[in-house]
Amino acid sequence: MLHYEMMLPHQIRTAIEKRWPVILPLGVLEYHGEHLPVGMDTLAVIGILEILEKEMDLVILPPFYYGAASYAVEPPEGNGSLNVEAEALAPFAKAMFQGLLRIGFRNIHVVIHHQTENFVAGMPTDLAFKFAARQAIFAFLEKDRGEGWWGSNEMADYYARQSAGEDPFNWIKTHPLMTPGAMEGYPYDHAGKGETSLMMALFPDAVDLSRLSDEKWYVRSAKDASLEFGARGRDRILAHLRVALR
Ligand SMILES: [Zn+2]
Repeated sequence: MLHYEMMLPHQIRTAIEKRWPVILPLGVLEYHGEHLPVGMDTLAVIGILEILEKEMDLVILPPFYYGAASYAVEPPEGNGSLNVEAEALAPFAKAMFQGLLRIGFRNIHVVIHHQTENFVAGMPTDLAFKFAARQAIFAFLEKDRGEGWWGSNEMADYYARQSAGEDPFNWIKTHPLMTPGAMEGYPYDHAGKGETSLMMALFPDAVDLSRLSDEKWYVRSAKDASLEFGARGRDRILAHLRVALR
């Protein structure tokens, strides 16, 4: 229901007023073995948000699939990976975030799945969006409040408000779909048992195990994938995001 592109302006105004989380599903198009669709990472985020949307007030932005997939797994020719470099993503993302701030949203979240086992240090796609979010907030505040906004006496309670979560730099947050804490016992992998099972739980028609080949090391564990196992991963992700997106 509350997919941004389907919303009427009065619903958008309600979402702004009630500070509903506005979420960008972020991922890539990347080769995930012969048995999984290239949209795997982004679809995982979308599938989870479709479930969450039924239980909490959320606005889901049109997903962004064109992240920096890299060609680390396989070359793109005939395999389908589509890499857009982080240097090209950052200006796009900055402009998009500035636009969302202009509309009035102050509770924006990016949920990403792709190379996010390295989320703390960062990888090109999440770093580009994190960097862009910071730049967009600085640019927005400088335009809205003028230079010296942070030093003005109206900001004297900045550190107190920051601990209460009202810091403007919290207007846009980036979350990995999976965190090591939330996923304990569930594997991070690429097209292996973890991702294949998760996809079976979210979009069963998108998995074709008859195409699975054990030629490449990273897909070998996919033969042990199951819907039940994927449902466990799905539920852990849901539990983590229910808290993160509050
Ligand atoms: Zn993946």
